[in-house]
Amino acid sequence: MEERGSPDGDPARSLEQGPEGPETPIQVVLRVRPMSTAELRRGEQSALHCSGTRTLQVSPPGGGPDVAFRFGAVLDGARTQEDVFRACGVKRLGELALRGFSCTVFTFGQTGSGKTYTLTGPPPQGEGVSVPPSLVGIMQRTFAWLLDRVQHLGVPVTLRASYLEIYNEQVRDLLSRGSPRPLPVRWNKARGFYVEQLRMVEFASLEALMELLQMGLKRRQSSSHTLNQASSRSHALFTLYVSRPTTQQVPAVDAGESPVGGKLCFVDLAGSEKVATTGSRGQLMLEANSINRSLLALGHCISLLLDPQRRQSHIPFRDSKLTKLLADSLGGRGVTLMVACVSPSAQCLPETLSTLRYASRAQRVTTRPQGPKSPGVKPPQPVEAELLQLKEENRHLRFQLDQIQTKAPGIHGARGAWAQQNLYGMLQEFMLENERLRKEMRQLQSSRDLARAEQHVLAQQVHELERHLLSACSLPQQGSAPMCPGSMGPAASCHALPPLCSCCHPCPLCRVALAHWACPRRECHVPQQVLEPEAPGHMSLSARLPSWAPAPSPGSSKPPRERSHSDWTQTPVLAEMLTGEGVVPSAPPMPTRSSNMPPYLRGGSGILNLTQRPEALTH
Ligand code: ADP
Ligand code: MG
Repeated sequence: MEERGSPDGDPARSLEQGPEGPETPIQVVLRVRPMSTAELRRGEQSALHCSGTRTLQVSPPGGGPDVAFRFGAVLDGARTQEDVFRACGVKRLGELALRGFSCTVFTFGQTGSGKTYTLTGPPPQGEGVSVPPSLVGIMQRTFAWLLDRVQHLGVPVTLRASYLEIYNEQVRDLLSRGSPRPLPVRWNKARGFYVEQLRMVEFASLEALMELLQMGLKRRQSSSHTLNQASSRSHALFTLYVSRPTTQQVPAVDAGESPVGGKLCFVDLAGSEKVATTGSRGQLMLEANSINRSLLALGHCISLLLDPQRRQSHIPFRDSKLTKLLADSLGGRGVTLMVACVSPSAQCLPETLSTLRYASRAQRVTTRPQGPKSPGVKPPQPVEAELLQLKEENRHLRFQLDQIQTKAPGIHGARGAWAQQNLYGMLQEFMLENERLRKEMRQLQSSRDLARAEQHVLAQQVHELERHLLSACSLPQQGSAPMCPGSMGPAASCHALPPLCSCCHPCPLCRVALAHWACPRRECHVPQQVLEPEAPGHMSLSARLPSWAPAPSPGSSKPPRERSHSDWTQTPVLAEMLTGEGVVPSAPPMPTRSSNMPPYLRGGSGILNLTQRPEALTH
């Protein structure tokens, strides 16, 4: 078979010229299947005739001129599976995959035209009945050839395989451990489109590889309709990954990540079908619509790829999962072989002509095969980012330096040169200074957090002490204060204020009268004597010290002097502590005799911080 490729006749060598190889056209071969027994029984005529090894003549049934189509190879119904394997050029793709290229073989054509047969042979005739070796397809033949080739290479090669199908626009892993579940198709700059979480199975023998193929074939969706007893209802992609060790350590492969190295992908497209001809209904019709839609998207992408002007712009690969996964093979960096399959029957001529036109166009599509890259060539992402950052910083510093030089001409000359030379030194100094400031800031932040936590604890303690203090005040005490006549009502107090005088404003909540000194008009309403009845046996209010008050000093017969309103107000700090606001005393007067009492208890103290407050209250 004549192979298309580089002018020097060795496509493999020309593809190895560099990372961006020369434009390489998609290789297209045509396979015409023999007339089936059913077609012969119906008396259908063949409309196709091969002329030489590369040309196909189409004779319209009603007469008229023949139409000729030329392909890389034309293989008629008399050709065996082995003939097809040898002639189609798949071995060349295998070689390229071993050298690190990304290669794709795909079959396409009308349903029942022999795509699956060409790739994998006839469907098994029963459980456990294997396909005779003479009938196996180009996939099994390529596997056997490739493994033999690998053995003779004399270098260690790691082989992996993945198998997926696109069924009703869902990607399903045919080698998954559980039942196949839909997988997402993602894109990134380095890998292009890829299937996330796709299982890749490493294998070392031909038997293991065949088992993987059989496992996938069994799980693949197929149904029966008028044109095909075992019609594939999905597009299937079987990929072989070849990785060869380099001088550098090849990184471990994560789930769903393509290994570094070449690959060879076999795509068995589901056939386009006219629902009216196949008689598909219900689920079959849904499947057919989905198949036709994705094939339409594929055709559209191919048309755009053919247009040199539009090729530079947007190609809608995202229109279907199929075009996403074939993007690299069609217009990207892959090497592609297309096997167009047609039926010879005159009944199928419209579809056959459509396939032939499609295939003719496809062979004008070119790709730019990209050679293997050493893992060491491309620096990892973080280093790249750092490099960019440093470049930017460098540019900024140069700019600043230029400005300084413009402003201060004296800096020219030796100093300028020094600054230029020491740009790196300056950069380092900046970095050190930044680091120091960052450290300082971290320390300040942590001490601020500590102070906040302490403040919170102290505030709680203050609150607790306030509560104790106030409840102590509200307890009925022996010889309790005589009530103001106006405050004799039975109302229960909602607060700890001693109910003293009803002449003043009542509490807005419990209506108990507030202390006379809380009233702004206390002077005119509350005679001082009312609060201090001279009844015998009764101590004056000022003499009745609360339980928490310190006892009078021994030897001092003089009772503590009565506290005036000003005495209350002389303890503004305490008042503030208790109310948290202005000076509104709400506790009995504090004794003032102790000379060693802290100033904040004696009143008129200076700043009282939160740490002193619980202490003051306890006191
Ligand atoms: P497709 O995948 O295109 O829908 P299939 O590969 O399933 O079609 O083929 C349809 C039928 O035709 C199958 O029964 C298959 O065995 C038979 N067939 C296809 N190509 C050939 C061939 N070259 N020789 C003999 N039988 C074939
Ligand atoms: Mg099929």
